[in-house]
This record gives sequence, C-alpha cells and structure tokens, in this order.
Amino acid sequence: MNLADIKDVKALLSSEGFVFKKSLGQNFIIDETVCPAMADSCCDRNIGVIEIGPGAGVLTYELASKAKRVVAIEIDERLKPVLQKTVGGFNNVEIIFGDVLKLNLNKIIKEKFLDCEKVAVCANLPYYITSPIIISLLESRLNISSITAMVQLEAAERLCARLGTRQAGAVTAAVEYYSEAQILFDVPRDCFLPAPNVDSAVIRLDIRKDFPVKVKSENLFFELIKAGFNQRRKTLSNALSNHLKCDKPTVLSYLKNAGIKETARAEELTIGDFAALSNNIFEDNN
Ligand code: SAM
Repeated sequence: MNLADIKDVKALLSSEGFVFKKSLGQNFIIDETVCPAMADSCCDRNIGVIEIGPGAGVLTYELASKAKRVVAIEIDERLKPVLQKTVGGFNNVEIIFGDVLKLNLNKIIKEKFLDCEKVAVCANLPYYITSPIIISLLESRLNISSITAMVQLEAAERLCARLGTRQAGAVTAAVEYYSEAQILFDVPRDCFLPAPNVDSAVIRLDIRKDFPVKVKSENLFFELIKAGFNQRRKTLSNALSNHLKCDKPTVLSYLKNAGIKETARAEELTIGDFAALSNNIFEDNN
C-alpha cells in the first residue's frame, strides 16, 4: 500500500466504509513529498512527536520512521481500523482517541516521552480549529521545542506575521511572544483528498526560551492586544477606552507615555509598543 497514492488511500478508506466529515476538517494529504518534508523538518532519532489528527496515518507513518516515539491524537474513532492497517505495525506509535483541546497534553508529555530528549508537535491541523489549537499549545507552556503545522495559507501569513504589519492579528501576538515563526513551504489544494477550497502552507514555530519583551502582566498585555484587534478599524484609543471603561484623556496619556501616537490603530503597534503600553497601564493601576 502506498499512502501517497490517491488510489490506495481511496481503496483503504472505502474498504473500511469511511466517509469524510467536513465538520472535522478531514482533508487527508495524498502527495508523496509533503509528509516526508514535514517529518524531516522536526524529527531526529531522539525526539518524541505529538501528532494532532493522524487521519489515515500518512504523516504518522513518516514520523514513526524518523522519530523515537509518536503519540497521535485523533478525535474520530471511525479511523481506528484504518490506522491499525497503516501504522499498527510500528511499536513506537500510540494513538489516543480524544479531542486535543480537552486532553491534558502536559500529562501526556510527562508520561509518554520519558525516553525522548525533547518533544515536538507536528500536524496537518483541522482548519476549523487552527488558531485555538495553536494558542492553546503556546499558552499552556508545554515542554515542547517546536510546532510544525500545515495550516491554510492565509492563516500561515497571519500566524507568521510580525505585530506592526497589516497581516497581524491577535493570534500573531501569542505566536510572536512564545515562538519564532516561519513559513516553510506552500502546499497547493490538489495535494489533499478531498481538495479544500484554499491552498495551504507548512509553518514552523520554534518555542522561545526567553520572551522577546518583558511584560509586568501577561494577562493585561494579551487583553489589550485582543481588545485592539477586536476593533481593528477603530483607533486604539477608542478601542481601549471602550474596553477599559476609561475616559479618553487617560487612555491618551497611557499611549503618550508608551511613545505611541494618538491616532494609532492596533495593527500599527509592534510587540514592544504593546509591552510598553501594558506596563504603563499596569503601573498606573497597581
Ligand atoms: N494527518 C492527516 C493527513 O495529513 O492526511 C489528516 C489531517 S486532517 C486535515 C485533520 C485530522 O484532525 C482529521 O483526521 C480529523 O478527524 C482530526 N481532528 C479534527 N478535530 C480534532 C480534534 N479536536 N482533536 C483531534 N483530532 C481532530
């Protein structure tokens, strides 16, 4: 069986009576170069890999061949017999059936990768929950070294943008704060079964050991960023005075003290600007 061959994958899935569920973001890779390239970008013989959404196991197969251990988390139990056939022969692969957003990944890392030097995440992510998964992986401060993920091209551009540029959004802030991000390569839509309506890209986030800015309250820092980007067409002073329920002159003084112009919008601020602003507001209120 060749997992990169559309005929073999279709035959395997139909022999198990599998029907794709759009609601679970089920677009499986059917290209012979993409999964090896993703696995190469994160694997070595001493690394443990958490895969999210193994699907039919095409990426899992590559990861299992190149990493020390793979734990793959799949929400759809209908894929059990398919995965048994594709990766059941590996003794370094474990499949956990569950929702990645509900499982305790910290516990999984502590219990399952004792013999691994480090742990990375690698996934062709279900697109309906790309941002929640990435944010949750980053904010829970898992003991992982990197995240390699296939995401929609537009999401890749936003996730790997820098604050202070037009592509940036609130999710960009979490990515920039916790990691160094880059787009590795683009993947056209015809590399998937069924083909989605959009192209994709593989990104890599290398988890930082030290944060790029010092903030006095991370909660306030991210709260201000979310408030600013929730109303990105408004000036930051209007967005924040609504959000903080604070009079406009006070907000303007916070901006001024942080060296930010009165008319700035969220997308014009760098991560350093948001840090200075949140530190200023924090100090004034504590
Ligand atoms: N890795 C496979 C590949 O590359 O061909 C499949 C990727 S497909 C884009 C996304 C996979 O994530 C599907 O198998 C889907 O069932 C699974 N999935 C969707 N939501 C999930 C969740 N909340 N937790 C874990 N897996 C999920």
